[in-house]
Amino acid sequence: MRRVTHWIDGKAWGGVADRTGEVFDPATGSVAARVDFAGQAEVDEAVAAAGRAFATWRQTSLAARSSVLFGFRSLLHARRDEVAAILTAEHGKVLSDAAGEVQRGLEVVDFACGVPHLLKGAFSENASTGVDVYAIRQPLGVVGVITPFNFPAMVPLWFVPLAIACGNTVVLKPSEKDPSAPVFLAELFAEAGLPDGVLNVVHGDKVAVDRVLSHPDVRAVSFVGSTPVARYIYETGTRHGKRVQALGGAKNHMVVLPDADLDLAADAAVSAGYGSAGERCMAVSVVVAVDPVGDELVPRMVDRIAGIRVGDGRRPGCDMGPLVTEAHRDRVAGYLEDGVAAGASLVVDGRAHAVDGEPDGFWLGPSLFDHVRPEQSIYTDEIFGPVLSVVRAPSYEAALDLVNANPYGNGTAIFTNDGGAARRFQNEVEVGMVGVNVPIPVPVSYYSFGGWKQSLFGDSHAYGPDAIHFFTRTKAVTSRWLDPSHGGVNLGFPQNI
Ligand code: NAD
Repeated sequence: MRRVTHWIDGKAWGGVADRTGEVFDPATGSVAARVDFAGQAEVDEAVAAAGRAFATWRQTSLAARSSVLFGFRSLLHARRDEVAAILTAEHGKVLSDAAGEVQRGLEVVDFACGVPHLLKGAFSENASTGVDVYAIRQPLGVVGVITPFNFPAMVPLWFVPLAIACGNTVVLKPSEKDPSAPVFLAELFAEAGLPDGVLNVVHGDKVAVDRVLSHPDVRAVSFVGSTPVARYIYETGTRHGKRVQALGGAKNHMVVLPDADLDLAADAAVSAGYGSAGERCMAVSVVVAVDPVGDELVPRMVDRIAGIRVGDGRRPGCDMGPLVTEAHRDRVAGYLEDGVAAGASLVVDGRAHAVDGEPDGFWLGPSLFDHVRPEQSIYTDEIFGPVLSVVRAPSYEAALDLVNANPYGNGTAIFTNDGGAARRFQNEVEVGMVGVNVPIPVPVSYYSFGGWKQSLFGDSHAYGPDAIHFFTRTKAVTSRWLDPSHGGVNLGFPQNI
């Protein structure tokens, strides 16, 4: 049985784990590996390695740091297909989707390669007579990064390259469900010349996370996962005096106005609803059809759903893979019964969808509910699977109210040919990322990624300019070299003249 273990101080951990977990191949249902779970001792070992490395890494020149990042970028480019294959084998998403995940992670590496420009501070000559004031950005120290199962490569790449580019060292705790890709990335970083201890990977569950949150030498935590855990991470980490950004779950609405291009809207809703089996925090999970568009839109979606090929992501032609675990598949399937019992109409039942894969894979085809009401659990809960709900709304205002009343605020989209309506929506909607005729508006890497309301705890979004803010602290220096004042003792508060 293949074993996945921690990566500490530039090498695979040599110890014997007290606890381990199973890693599945979701397309076959078989156990593909066992992953070591870290206890407090292993987390402490990783934090100690990161702490030692920090002393040197923070003094390493910007030129040398960006050179490592350029090297990592080249290696990741060259080996992107291997990373994608690892993602498909442990997460289940189809290979083309996995390749897209690697590409979006690479874009953040591209951004991080420009770190010398990004870390430029500010300088004010003669702020006072003969006095210059400047601000420099310094790293925080050891940073914890805790990531979810659904983007095992991309989400670590949202944080790790920028944290180390800024001069920090990192302890990454990836999802225990698909732990191999993050270790592969750490190996590539080492090959690119990243010094030992700058990036460490510890696997495990709440035990490891809790130690990261309480360890006195961890200065900041970046987290991505579900809302209840994100809230816990934020509250616990800040209570321990850490800087925390915690990105949570989502319920993303796509509003379709009556003047929209309905073929475009149907393509977008189906692609964004069922891509990666709905296991994306930016997946569309609610289509808000503004009257009278629903009667025309829903049949177009049904036609397209029939053409989705569900199966093993390694087989050519498959569009949608299995769910990540059997337990998650069963939980998602349970919502089909809940929705029917609550009175929504199940227009497409994914349990009946043909599958091109092994019978024991964690399969569930795409399902579509129509006439969903906001009080039903299929609307209120983040299902995180291939279940799409259509809610009918009588007007633009009603659609907007629905989106704004939702406790989540990660992504949203509007489909319309009316520029004024789109302009109004982007102004009025209380959501962090908005698409106009774009269903998955994940910002490019030189903007930042983040939701509002219960989709993000903290004040910094991921990657882009916010990352530079999050991973550094500013020091302001006031200096005088010319005409030093020998004016004698003066107890008055210094004034700028
Ligand atoms: P999760 O919250 O179960 O796990 C996330 C991480 O937290 C994992 O590393 C896990 O080991 C750890 N963890 C789990 N339970 C914990 C606990 N009780 N205490 C401490 N740590 C714990 O999330 P998941 O199922 O891996 O990922 C799916 C979720 O992530 C969805 O809710 C999705 O919307 C969200 N997500 C959000 C974004 C975003 O940018 N907002 C991006 C991707 C995924």
